[in-house]
Amino acid sequence: RPLVVCTEVTRRYGSDGGPFTADGRTVTALDSVSLDVAGGEVVGVAGPSGSGKSTLLHLLAGLDTPTRGEIEVCGTTVGALSRRRRTAFRRENVGMVFQRFHLLPALTARENVALPLVQAGVARSDRRSRASELLAAVGLDDRGSHYPSALSGGEQQRVAIARALAADPAVVIADEPTGELDRETGERVLDLLTDVSDGRAIVVASHDEYTLGRTDRVVRLRDGARQ
Ligand code: ADP
Ligand code: ADP
Repeated sequence: RPLVVCTEVTRRYGSDGGPFTADGRTVTALDSVSLDVAGGEVVGVAGPSGSGKSTLLHLLAGLDTPTRGEIEVCGTTVGALSRRRRTAFRRENVGMVFQRFHLLPALTARENVALPLVQAGVARSDRRSRASELLAAVGLDDRGSHYPSALSGGEQQRVAIARALAADPAVVIADEPTGELDRETGERVLDLLTDVSDGRAIVVASHDEYTLGRTDRVVRLRDGARQ
């Protein structure tokens, strides 16, 4: 069975206790979308701004739950979990990479990478060695004691990838991971993401065709529906 199984998922805002739109209308951000992602597969999610990419990624990551339909990640129906269990499930099974890196500025690169291991209750000495291994895997073994502000955008995104992989998640979700990077840096970051993520299910949202061209297949959204 695929690591991610998304069946007729709809997410509506404004009708179900979720955030309301400014004018009080209901927005169907995602409209009956089905999608499977197997381990070892890199799937791109394409579509113009507002087409539902972030909504889909948030649902796949367990940050949000569908209005209708079902999302199964690693055999667990995420929407059936309590909020607390969903958070624990996400930390264990899903790594996330964001457009603007989201590294904590007060922590060094190594501390940022080790943070998921703190949450996972891994002992300090093991965290340090695991974080160093991960930094080496993304080619930043000499940058461990640097703060994010001392790193280039590409380096920050490599740190973020190392952090996303720290808890050894089966699924990696990346929302516009190359959006803040120049083409060449973005290419290298994406190559790295797909290389080091061997065997995992990877979902990459982007509106950049070049980035999408690096994925195994592309799912296109328009007004929340698959095309
Ligand atoms: P980005 O540019 O990084 O994709 P956005 O500015 O699109 O981010 O959205 C930022 C956050 O606001 C997201 O979490 C998104 O879900 C939320 N959001 C987007 N559109 C709306 C809206 N119409 N009403 C309330 N929240 C929204
Ligand atoms: P994309 O990532 O493709 O830009 P989004 O998933 O952010 O698309 O948004 C899809 C639609 O849902 C847009 O119309 C957006 O304004 C709306 N939306 C997103 N998040 C929220 C929210 N938290 N509350 C209300 N509307 C939202």
